[in-house]
Amino acid sequence: MSRFLNAGYAGLAAYVPGEQPQDMQYIKLNTNESPYPPSEHLLDAVSRAEVAKLNLYPDPDCRLLSRAIAARYDVAPECVFLANGSDDILNFCFMGFCESGVIFPDISYGFYEVYANLYGLNYSKIPLDRDFSVDFRDYCGAGRSIVLANPNAQTGKAISVGQIEQIAASNPDRLVLIDEAYVDFGAQSCVPLTKRYENLLVCQTFSKSRSMAGARLGFAIASPGLIADLNRLKFSTNPYNINRLTQLAGIAALEDGEYYDANCRKIIETRAYVRRELLARGFYVTDSSANFVLARSDRMDGQALYEALKRRGILVRHFSDARIRDCIRITIGTKQQMDALLRKIDEIMGGSI
Ligand code: PMP
Repeated sequence: MSRFLNAGYAGLAAYVPGEQPQDMQYIKLNTNESPYPPSEHLLDAVSRAEVAKLNLYPDPDCRLLSRAIAARYDVAPECVFLANGSDDILNFCFMGFCESGVIFPDISYGFYEVYANLYGLNYSKIPLDRDFSVDFRDYCGAGRSIVLANPNAQTGKAISVGQIEQIAASNPDRLVLIDEAYVDFGAQSCVPLTKRYENLLVCQTFSKSRSMAGARLGFAIASPGLIADLNRLKFSTNPYNINRLTQLAGIAALEDGEYYDANCRKIIETRAYVRRELLARGFYVTDSSANFVLARSDRMDGQALYEALKRRGILVRHFSDARIRDCIRITIGTKQQMDALLRKIDEIMGGSI
């Protein structure tokens, strides 16, 4: 740290992204990326001719992409906001809508707490149930802003749209932010509810189901008032937060819905296969609606299993939070990648029991 940093930031605990090591080729099951590449159509859309236009700023209003998202989700374009990954949207929401305090689950996306600290917010972490479920009643009439990932991060478990509606209806004067980063892998989206609840904001990303983690594109859908607020924050920080190539890639991905839907179906199938195989080996495995599962074995500590897999060329994610430190989080890759994982687990743990 230098002498120049504002005192208020001295104690800031920054978010630690999943590792992206360069030392060797790993089977990467640690950051919930898609194992499938972007579609051919997308590769063509980001053409040499477009790259040649990089001397020009991108459209700060992302009009073509906003319209494409509005059409895909059956909402008005003024209900759509685009940003540099959904992290960018979360940042604006914590910056702009949480001064009366905010709550989120104790086990969820780690960035929520980082943003709450960054903005000096009063926040509480609401414990998940013993089986890692979100109890929606904990959030009804909370009187503070609410941030929920659905499906939830780290566990993959989802709550129903009806439960989210009860949360939104019982907190009419507070923002309810539903982070649907993983919704395309088997949960139900609450986007339609945004037409009826002006306090409900849904954010999604192109990073997972649309194979675009490297392009950085996220979007929010909400009432026009909330979207105007997000734009005010964006235009007060970085209006050009989505580059030209990413805007084009986003439009192309939306035009190729069938390709990405088919990939999601493959991931859902592979998730069921891995879950069955791990259960057969005596693991506890969350009933996930996301592109990952959280798994634990009584026979081996989470940190030790993470390390043993890494030594054998497979990266999974381990968290040090007390409630899940005995677990590993495994991104669902291709069937071949998951078979390699299972073989390594058998090698490490001595086969099925
Ligand atoms: N929300 C959740 C729950 C996540 O797990 C992630 C990614 N790890 C994000 C948001 C951010 O995704 P991105 O910025 O790539 O859109």
